Amino acid sequence: MIQNIWCVGRNYADHAKELGNAVPEKPMIFLKAGSCAVESGQPLRFPSWLGTIHHEVEMALIFDEHLEISQAAVALDLTARDLQTQLKKQSYPWTLAKSFPQACPLGSRFAIKNLSELQSRGQIQLFINEELRQNGNFRDMVFPVNQLVDYLRSHLPVMPGDLLMTGTPAGVGPLEPGDLIHAEIVGLSEGRWKVE
Ligand code: ZN
Repeated sequence: MIQNIWCVGRNYADHAKELGNAVPEKPMIFLKAGSCAVESGQPLRFPSWLGTIHHEVEMALIFDEHLEISQAAVALDLTARDLQTQLKKQSYPWTLAKSFPQACPLGSRFAIKNLSELQSRGQIQLFINEELRQNGNFRDMVFPVNQLVDYLRSHLPVMPGDLLMTGTPAGVGPLEPGDLIHAEIVGLSEGRWKVE
């Protein structure tokens, strides 16, 4: 049972830029409810009031019983983009646009053997209907994983089993009914979902 899904916004400069946002000076943290998580293979169904839903492929770090990071998985930070834009304009929190049911599809977990190697060599990709849409390198993170983990543990009530979503590279875009999503941390984790 996942209690909290901690997310980092704007952690790749190219993605911050594509949405017209500045790169932050400290990690920008927001939450998705733990109950948003959905395993690979589950069909995704979204109510129409959410409007356009964007894919954001991210590496999810998983806190273990000692609040260390020993596992990770590919994940999607699904975002109701038009609703988020509207909420931002109103200076409202964007919870409704980020924390709806099934907003966090989670792929297969893998054990992290060498975190610094993963940081410098890891690659993340997202395909829609087998077409490559997002392709990022973990070395391009604004705040590397060890800084994010330290920041979270020193500022927030992190629990064993919580996820830390490490931000998305450029290339986010809308999902359509019938789309087949394939997300991958190359060679380590994958997830597949169909939008219904
Ligand atoms: Zn995100």
